[in-house]
Amino acid sequence: MVATHNPGKLREMRELLAPYGIDAASADELGLSEPAETGASFRDNARIKASAAANAAGLPAIADDSGLAVDALGGAPGIHSARWAGDDKNFARAMETIESKLRDHGADRPALRKAQFVSALCVAWPDGHMEEFEGTVDGTLVWPPRGTAGFGYDPMFLPDGHARTFGEMTGDEKHGLPPKGQGLSHRARAFLKLAAACLDR
Ligand code: IMP
Repeated sequence: MVATHNPGKLREMRELLAPYGIDAASADELGLSEPAETGASFRDNARIKASAAANAAGLPAIADDSGLAVDALGGAPGIHSARWAGDDKNFARAMETIESKLRDHGADRPALRKAQFVSALCVAWPDGHMEEFEGTVDGTLVWPPRGTAGFGYDPMFLPDGHARTFGEMTGDEKHGLPPKGQGLSHRARAFLKLAAACLDR
């Protein structure tokens, strides 16, 4: 099962798992509650979510804890990336908050607007065993945001070496695995490590 209540993440995790013949249920579908993300790192929070779900469902669970780390903001919003959107999950406002902080820092050139998406994946089994994997992708934050695809901060994130933001890319371009895509996103990169260690194709 996929230990998430975030529809954007669930869609991507399902697309990543499909080539391995795995059709995972989500924490929402299984009626599991969301544990408090009290960890101090992406890894801590992925572990908390995966182990809570594996224990509650009695099934192996994959959890992703991820976020955007902006260099000029000392790595913020980082593990608080979801929180910056507020209870109403307003990412247009969260992106405006980042832009306004970047302006406060005088970050008016691409070189001063570098950021990284980070994904920590944890697979937990009901017997307590856990495996952890991490993936990152470097990029530059653009303003105004571009594109309506993806979720969260995607429209602001221009991955290095590309001309379109994640918000302008198809799912296969953002996170498709070879041969469909290049495994570009942080989640795809972490997932490729997980698949090599834990899954048969
Ligand atoms: P959490 O892992 O549930 O704490 O939430 C991670 C948050 O980071 C999401 O709600 C998004 O705001 C952001 N995030 C993580 N991965 C992505 C991504 O692939 N695209 C855009 N935003 C992301």
